[in-house]
Parts: sequence; structure tokens; C-alpha cells
Amino acid sequence: MTYSPKAKKVYADALAEKRAAGLYKDEYIITSPQGAWITVQFPEGALEKKVLNLCSNNYLGLSSHPDIVKAAHEGLDSRGYGMSSVRFICGTQDIHRDLERKMSEFLGTEDTILFGSCFDANGAVFEALLGEEDAIFSDQLVHASIIDGERLAKKVSRSIYPHSDMAELEKMLKESSARIKMIVTDGIFSMDGDMAKLDEIAALAEKYEAMVFVDDSHATGFIGKSGRGTHEYFNVMDKVDIITTTFGKALGGATGGCISGKKEMIAMLRQVGRPYLFSNALMPAVVTATKKVLETLTESTERRDKLADLAKFWRESLVTAGFDVKAGNTPIIPIMLYDAKLAQDFARELFEEGVYVRGFFYPVVAQGQARIRTQMSAGLEKTDLEKALVSFIKVGKKLNVLK
Ligand SMILES: *Cc1c(COP(=O)(O)O)cnc(C)c1O
Repeated sequence: MTYSPKAKKVYADALAEKRAAGLYKDEYIITSPQGAWITVQFPEGALEKKVLNLCSNNYLGLSSHPDIVKAAHEGLDSRGYGMSSVRFICGTQDIHRDLERKMSEFLGTEDTILFGSCFDANGAVFEALLGEEDAIFSDQLVHASIIDGERLAKKVSRSIYPHSDMAELEKMLKESSARIKMIVTDGIFSMDGDMAKLDEIAALAEKYEAMVFVDDSHATGFIGKSGRGTHEYFNVMDKVDIITTTFGKALGGATGGCISGKKEMIAMLRQVGRPYLFSNALMPAVVTATKKVLETLTESTERRDKLADLAKFWRESLVTAGFDVKAGNTPIIPIMLYDAKLAQDFARELFEEGVYVRGFFYPVVAQGQARIRTQMSAGLEKTDLEKALVSFIKVGKKLNVLK
């Protein structure tokens, strides 16, 4: 027993400090499947409450869709529960290869490699593909997993450009004499809901012979006219070299991720990508269900179109009501409140009204940039949003956010 009172106090004090600062994150307990309407206990064990969910990444409403659940069952029945192996030992089934091919087809790339999560994909990619003669040029607001992945690539030089500042990026590229230059960005930035300027990035990449890396976790499945992602939206599908993305958001929302791109890079990742070599293969049910999602999206753009309509409606409704909404054109719609406590109070009041959202504040967003982030889903209906708007206005007035 070496958990000394001194050690215990270190953690207890740190936690108490978080609570005192209003930065402690409590979890709400969901007792239903994921969806537009969920039942929630808060605090744990309290009477459950049915609420409208405006904060999931279930963009296409597929997380509990009967066709996807059925496809998962089929995977479970035909290929079993678990793989008990990494891919290269005895963890690669025919369906894993099928999903890799389907994903490449969907994204318009040469090949794809699966990972247990997009966090793992981003943890693998830089260390595997870049060395000490190479350089990364990374947007300031990229996802935490990219930052960690870049840190793992210790030998690679790294420059960070101010968010979407193309002039700064160009200056950095111009000055660099690296062997491989890689521009690294999220396709859609999760906290602000804005898009990377991928057309301009692609043009700079061409001019300075750089590669383009896009993490499209908040775009794959619903951005662009057939939902292929930000590279489709900006009409630069042939100019993006590497895409990482997740199956844990729009594509059914279970778990898993991938890296998709040029075949030599994918082959290299199979040889040396550490989370690929040392972490378990995806479970068959996730593989067959994700395949089914891609088939569904290839057949019809109905869900993606509905999502775009709802996002436009919700954004316009909030602006008309007088809320301070971050500009953008994605289903991520943040309402700026600037104060952490206000953001938390706002969320709590809305929960009482039957609308579930979360307040976001430092360190998830910058100091003084607290907000409520709402996210649209094709599982929602316009009537749900009309009802939610009444609650937002009521709470907005009560807390003096609206006049
Ligand atoms: C959610 C997210 C991830 C992590 O995806 P997981 O598959 O859940 O690990 C990585 N990058 C971005 C940009 C994300 O939004």
C-alpha cells in the first residue's frame, strides 16, 4: 500500500480546486439509446427526465437506426464478438478489408487503414510518416489528438499558424527547406463550427510542394454535396493527400477511425503505426455496421440534406431571436455567452425546460470564450427545434442574455 496520504491529498486538492473554479465536469446519465430524444438522470440515480438532445455528434441520426443495429447484429452473428488480436497477427477478417476499400471509395482515396479510434489514427500518423528532415505546419486550433500525435513525432519540426491565417501559413511554407512539408488542419473545427479554408490551403500546398492533411471527423458523412467531407465541399478531392476521420460521430457513432490516402503512406502505416501494431483490431459488429452506413450514404443524400436544412433553420432562428451565434455554415452552432458560470447556468436552466445542451468553457475553449454548443442531427424534426427555441428564449430572458 503506497497510496500515501500525501498522494491522496494531491488529487483531492486538485479536484477541489476544479470544483471551486466552476470547471468540474459532471456526467449526466443517459438511460435510453442515443437519439434526438433521450432519457437522462441528473444527478445519477435521480428521477429520469425525457429531454431533447442538442449536443451529440449523431449528425446523421444513425447511432440507433434499426438498419445499422441490424447490420451490427449480422457482423456479430457471422464473425463473432471480438478479434483478440491486433490486425497483423490474426485480427484481419475479410470485412475489415471490405470496409477499408469502401472507405477509400467514399473518400476518393487510394487506400485506407483502420484504427481503434481517430485519436489513435492521429497518434500514429505523424511519427510513422515524417522524420527529422520533415516539417509540420499546423493550425492553432487542431484537435487535441493531433497535438498529441505531433508531440509523439519528436524529431519533426513543427510550426503553428494562427487559426486559418493563410498569409502566416504561406510565410512559413516559403521559409521552409524541409524535405516533406505537411500542412495539418481539421476540416471543421469542433468548438467554433467553422471550416478550414481548404481551397486556399490546397493552392498553397501546390505552390510550395507541401502535402495536405485533413482531420475530417466533424465532416465525413455530411459535408459536401454527397457528404464526402470538406474536400468535396471545396472541390479539392484530388488535392488532399491524407484524411483521418472517425466512425464515432456521423458514421453510426460507435467507435473506430481511419487514415485514408496515398497507397505508399497507408502501406507504411501498416508496418510502423504504433497504435495499429499494438492495439486490438476493430470488433466485427462495428465493421459491418460502418460498412452499412457507407452504403446508405452512397445510395441517398436524404439525411445529409435534411441535416443541412435543420442547421440553416436553427441558426437563423437563434440569430432572429437575438442570440450571439458564431458565424458559420455547419451543423455545429455555438451560442456565445463568454462567461463560464453563465454558460453552466444556461445549460442547467435549459435542462429544467427539457432541452439538453452543455456549457463549454476553459480549457476546452479559450478563456473568456464560454459558450453553449448546439449540434444538429438528421434525427431531429423542425417541430422539435421550434419547441427548443421557445425554451432558449425563455432562459435567455431570465438570465439577461436577451433583452
Ligand atoms: C472526435 C474527434 C477525434 C477523435 O475521434 P475518436 O474516434 O472519438 O477518437 C479526432 N479528431 C477530431 C477533429 C475529432 O473531432
